[in-house]
Amino acid sequence: MRLSVVVPCYNEEAVIDRFDQQLRASLDRLGVGYELCYVDDGSADNTLTRLRALRVEHPANTRYLSFSRNFGKEAAMLAGLRAARGDAVVLMDADLQHRPELIGRMLELHRQGHDQVVAKRDRSCDKAVRGLLSRLYYRAVNRWVDVPLASGVGDFRLLSRAAVDALLALPESNRFSKGLFSWIGFDTVTFDCRDAEREGGGGSRWRFRSLLDYGMDGLISFNNRPLRLAIHTGLALAALAGAYAAWVVVTALTGGVSVPGYVTLVAIIAGLGGLQMLMLGLIGEYIGRIYYETKRRPHYLVKETGEVGAAPGTGAP
Ligand code: UDP
Ligand code: MG
Repeated sequence: MRLSVVVPCYNEEAVIDRFDQQLRASLDRLGVGYELCYVDDGSADNTLTRLRALRVEHPANTRYLSFSRNFGKEAAMLAGLRAARGDAVVLMDADLQHRPELIGRMLELHRQGHDQVVAKRDRSCDKAVRGLLSRLYYRAVNRWVDVPLASGVGDFRLLSRAAVDALLALPESNRFSKGLFSWIGFDTVTFDCRDAEREGGGGSRWRFRSLLDYGMDGLISFNNRPLRLAIHTGLALAALAGAYAAWVVVTALTGGVSVPGYVTLVAIIAGLGGLQMLMLGLIGEYIGRIYYETKRRPHYLVKETGEVGAAPGTGAP
C-alpha cells in the first residue's frame, strides 16, 4: 500500500523545510511507501524555491505543483488530490499545526476499514472570540443545511482511494470541501487530537473577510433551505398583516376611524423593506452561484510542476 500526503502551501517558506523533515521522519517510522504532493498556491515568498529544492533532494517520492497565482486552499487541495497516486491520501497543512505523528493513528483506523479518518481538534487554543463565533456558526449551519458540518473538524484527514475518486467526480466549481467531505459519506471515523500552535509566524493565513465568505459558502452551497426560510417568513408576515388588517377594520366599524398610527406605518414599511432587500440578496447569492458555475472556468492554473522520478532540474511542464 502506498500513501500520498497532499500539502497546500501558501507563503510557508519559514516552516516548509522543518515540516518536510518531520513528516518524512514520521512516515519512515511507519514503514509505508509514500509520496508527498506539495501544492504551492501562488506564494509570494520563496516557497516554490524551497519545493524545487526538496524535490531535488528526494526525487523518488516528491512531486509539486505551483499555481499561477493564489487560488485559495480549496483549489490547492483539489489539485493535490488530483495529483495524488496513492491508495490512501492524507490532507494536511504545512504550518506544523497538523502533527505528522498522527498519521500513524490514521493509517491504523484506515486499516480497520474506515474510508475517511478525520482528526477533530479541540479548539481550546483558538482565540476566544473566534472559537465562540465558530461554535455559533456551526450550530446555525447544522440547523439549516442538509449535510452535517462538524465544528473543530478541519481538513486534516485521511481519505481512501474510493473517497478521493468520489470527491474528484463532483463537478461543481464552487468547492466547499468541508461540505463535500460530508456529502460523499463513506465510512467516516473521527478521533480527537490537539492542534499545535501555528509556526512560521503571521497567524492564520485566513483573513476575517475570507472566513466570512467561507461561512456564506457553507450556508448556501449545499441546498436551498435558506430560500425555503424566505418563503416561510413571507407567509408568516402575510398572515400577520391579514390579522392586523382585520383588526383595523373591526375597530373602525365599532369605534370609528382614528387617524393616529404614523409610527406603526413607518415601522412596518421600513421593516418589510429591509426584509425584502434581505430576501432579494439571498436570491442574488444563488443566482450569482449559478452564473459562476455556468462559466466552467478551471479551479486553478498550474504554472510549473515537478514530477516524481523525473530528472531533477527539469521542472517545467
Ligand atoms: N493555504 C493555502 N492557500 C491559501 C491559504 C492557506 O494553500 O490561500 C494553506 C496554508 O499554507 C496552510 C493551510 O492552507 O498549509 C492552512 O492555512 P492556515 O494555517 O493559514 O489556516 P488555519 O490553520 O487557520 O485553518
Ligand atoms: Mg494553520
